Amino acid sequence: MNAYLGIDAGSISTCLAALSEDGEVLAAKYIRTQGNPQEAVADGLTQIRDETGSDLSVLGVATTGSARRLVGVFVGADVVKNEIIAHAVAAIHCHEDVGTVLEIGGQDSKIIIIQDNIVVDFAMNTVCAAGTGSFLDQQALRLGIPIEEFGDYAREASSRVKIASKCTVFAESDMIHKAQLGVAREDIIAGLCEGIVRNYLSNVAKGKRIHDRVVFQGGVANNSGVADAFRRELGMEITIPKHRAEMGAIGAALLARRRMRRDRYDTSFLGFELRRVDFESLVFECDNCPNQCEVVELRRHGVVVDRYHYRCQRWDLPGAAEGLSPSDSSAQGSAAEEDAKGSRVSSALTPH
Ligand code: SF4
Repeated sequence: MNAYLGIDAGSISTCLAALSEDGEVLAAKYIRTQGNPQEAVADGLTQIRDETGSDLSVLGVATTGSARRLVGVFVGADVVKNEIIAHAVAAIHCHEDVGTVLEIGGQDSKIIIIQDNIVVDFAMNTVCAAGTGSFLDQQALRLGIPIEEFGDYAREASSRVKIASKCTVFAESDMIHKAQLGVAREDIIAGLCEGIVRNYLSNVAKGKRIHDRVVFQGGVANNSGVADAFRRELGMEITIPKHRAEMGAIGAALLARRRMRRDRYDTSFLGFELRRVDFESLVFECDNCPNQCEVVELRRHGVVVDRYHYRCQRWDLPGAAEGLSPSDSSAQGSAAEEDAKGSRVSSALTPH
């Protein structure tokens, strides 16, 4: 069976999706990264192959997420794209008339405004963890409640107590304070869900006009308490996709499909046995100017295949110096990507 793979490699979770040539989801996996993106990806690929069968033939693979370049080199990605475009493409694929994507993941959150299947505006918050999945995980642990049950607790609340949610430190100390006052856990959890939504709308979504037909995706969309709070605050219907946590990976797989169909070259995918690949990631400081960039260098079987995280061209690999376009360089197995804002995504949306 032919398939396209997408990998959304984040600091908290690593999501993988395998799509058929028609864009149908064959398998979707959510794996905790636990500080080791390579191991998480290797695990995920094994799970995908186990679920779909060993005759799976990969026609293309794309990576997205904060570790997209690292994982892109690790798996031999054909396409490396940022999360904004991957989430937008997935949302449009699953919900053709989407106007706004609300996305809250493990470590960051985003809003994407879409008009006629084109991204017209977006914002992303990577600075503050308040309101993200990792913050909710911490609070669930502290309260002794599985995160999966957070939404059920919130729905049992008799009142929604206000929790300061502008930053993780304030939120946590306010929750402790409310508990000491005797406020019920259900009410605190409901207040926390409301606070997360308030924080999102006044920071990430600040100044954005939320278009009708809202899709809520990312790992936190599993939390029905937060979804309910969005419905109340916005006064709008919110759609939650079936594979809400894996939408970035689904978008990446769709982008791989678009690229491979358009450019028609053989995939660079290194296969499912990635643990056999001798892969190394190094960080060194460049002291050639006061910027003192911490350059990331990736090697496969001892050969440098990518460098990034620096501010000039000093450490560009020869291919980049020759002015290869993103598609050229990705065709040769190294990582490259295109900007999200203003990119037309409509051509990637149809399942054909
Ligand atoms: S990589 Fe470039 S910008 Fe960064 S420290 Fe070296 S010379 Fe300066």
